Order: sequence, then C-alpha cells, then structure tokens
Amino acid sequence: MTDPTLCWINGRLLPGNAATVPVTDHGLLYGDGVFEGIRFYRRRAFRLAAHLQRLADSCAAIRLTLPCPRERLTRAVEEVIAAFAEDDGYLRLIVTRGSGPMGLNPEDCTRPNVILIATRLQLVSERKRREGVRVIIAATRRLPADGLDPRIKSLNYLNPILARMEAHQAGADEAVMLNRAGRIAEGTADNVFVVRQGELATPPPVEGALAGITRELIMGLARDAGISVAEIPLAPYDLYTAGECFLTGTGAELIPVAEVDGRPMGDCPGPVFLELRRRFHALVQEECGDSQ
Ligand code: PMP
Repeated sequence: MTDPTLCWINGRLLPGNAATVPVTDHGLLYGDGVFEGIRFYRRRAFRLAAHLQRLADSCAAIRLTLPCPRERLTRAVEEVIAAFAEDDGYLRLIVTRGSGPMGLNPEDCTRPNVILIATRLQLVSERKRREGVRVIIAATRRLPADGLDPRIKSLNYLNPILARMEAHQAGADEAVMLNRAGRIAEGTADNVFVVRQGELATPPPVEGALAGITRELIMGLARDAGISVAEIPLAPYDLYTAGECFLTGTGAELIPVAEVDGRPMGDCPGPVFLELRRRFHALVQEECGDSQ
C-alpha cells in the first residue's frame, strides 16, 4: 500500500517525505513545543474545537504565542483533510518553538513552526480491539504533576516511551504508569478507566493524567447512559480487582484490557465497555456521518 502521508507546514502543502524543519528548531533540540492528535472520519475532524482549545491552553502554559489565529488552523485542518487520499485518518498538529541559537532560552527563536501531518493510523490490531490488550504496570513513573503539568501536551514523550519499552520487553501491548505516590496516572498515550460494581472510575489529571478529550466524552456518554462516574485516585489494587478495564484516546478510541500484569480482567470486553463503545461510535456517526 502506498503511504498517503501528507504535510502542511506554515501554509504549504507537501507530500509527507518532502516536508522538513530546520535542525535548529527548539522543538527538535529540546522538545520545546506542543501538539495535538486528531482523528478525522469521513473527511470531518472529530471534536476539533476541543483539540484547538487544548492546544491553545498548552501554548499558553509554555508561553508560546501561536503565529496564526485559531480560524486559520481550522482552515488548515480542512485543507489537509480535503487533500488527503483517504476519507478517514489521523492528524498530528504540532507547534514548535521555532529555530533559534543553541541554549534553552526561547526568546531568540524567530517564529514557531506550525505543522500538520495527515496519515493513516493502525495502532492496535482488530483482534486486540475485540479481545483486549495485555497491560503491565510500568516501573517507570509518570513525571510528577508539580514538575510538569500533565495537562500540557508537550513534544517530550520520553517518559511514556520508556514505559512503553518496558511493556514490549514484557510481551505486553501497553503500560500503565503510576505517579510518585504509587497511584494510577494513565497509559503511555491513553487514559485508564475501571469499572467496579457497575460504576466507572478514572484518575483526575492531578494524579498525572492528560485531560484526554476521549476521556471527557466517555465520562459524558456514561452519565447519559445512567452509569455513575467518579474521577478518583486509583491504586494498582483497583486494576487488579476491577470488573472491567479499558483505555481511551484519540488514536486508541476505546480498547478493552484483557489482563494486567498477567492477571486476567474480570470481564473483557465487559458490558459497560460495550455500551460505551456503541455510544461512542454512534456519536462519531452523528458528528462525522455521511450527511455532508
Ligand atoms: N494520555 C496521553 C499521555 C496521551 O498522549 C493521550 C493521547 N493524546 C491521551 C492520554 C488521550 O487523550 P485524547 O483522548 O485527548 O487523545
């Protein structure tokens, strides 16, 4: 299959392999920048306003001024989706600090680079989506929330990358990361939910979780379905004793967890997961369905 990857850099559309940024960009040198991962279904970006809001918040938190208004980003997203070879895909929206002299100081960085990458996404096989993934609890701890606020979606993912390497080393698909207090923070690129006695629970961002857009909408869908939802601290105990566990994220959508540290989950896929996944797909259909 040919690679359909397409890029948009500061207003220019290019094939994926022709797009470059200078090696002096502080995004490369220091991970100084922020990003969003966005899905599009049937050529419509899903929950774009929420992603652009989170991007604006991430920018504000690191004092990075977007070089263009939000409406320009919306148009750029539409432009890239229209030019992409397929109806469904994944968009990576990146804002780097831009090029500047060596040294951490961002003040002399000339201009942020705004980049959009549209690509195909297949993170997890259909079989695993159906039957569930194997998860370990990683030894690598999530960075403390008082060191780097987990709500900032920064370009530096070394911490979750190390945890993901542990998972693969152990023959698992994904790692759950603990915070310094030993409580559940999140997955390496997804949020964690458990179901206990029919109630849904997920850790709050202060525990070290990204304020996931899928997380937020799943909590809303659960409330609509009359399922009680709690944002509460969770311990490994809560994963080991859960009736159900699943992961959420833009890339992941919803993925059931079949086992944690070799212990089979109570139910996988469980009834709460199946109901929420059904509602999630109905929402995608409603917001991005055929009626153009
Ligand atoms: N946590 C981390 C660390 C992530 O990278 C992601 C993916 N963006 C998520 C959670 C899930 O967030 P969202 O639902 O907004 O994609």
